Amino acid sequence: MSTYNRILVAIDLSPEANLVAMRASELAQFYGATLTLIHVVEPLVVMDDYELAPTLPLEIEKTLEQRANNFLSSLVSDIGLSRAETIVGIGAPKRQILNYARDHNCDLIVIGAHGRHGIATLLGSTANAVLHGTHCDVMCVRIGK
Ligand code: AMP
Repeated sequence: MSTYNRILVAIDLSPEANLVAMRASELAQFYGATLTLIHVVEPLVVMDDYELAPTLPLEIEKTLEQRANNFLSSLVSDIGLSRAETIVGIGAPKRQILNYARDHNCDLIVIGAHGRHGIATLLGSTANAVLHGTHCDVMCVRIGK
């Protein structure tokens, strides 16, 4: 039996997402595992009164979902991941990634060490939260230097 059967890779639509997906793809091939790419649209908007609201107008939400689906489809075809599944979730990225991994019995999560939030700390906030919140193995892909 292989070590990993179901691999989940977290994709943040940054230029570095390609590297993260490549690493996950290599691991999936090596272990003969299924691969799922997940992107989570964050439903946080600034309202007129500068308050943050946890919901998005439906149209914007649909546009962001479509953009994410297009990005994931291009990634899948660029890297040649014909058998990979793509998922676009809505919510807090760390929570959605953790929930998906738990609900689908993923045994490895591949995630970028840093994303849009910069390299000020050793691990970005999403990678850190996923690492500490999951039951399964996590591989952090080093991005940049
Ligand atoms: P960050 O916490 O922004 O430094 O991002 C670190 C890593 O978390 C990224 O390289 C992605 O692998 C993952 N990630 C961040 N935001 C998202 C998102 N909205 N959806 C899916 N994965 C994400």
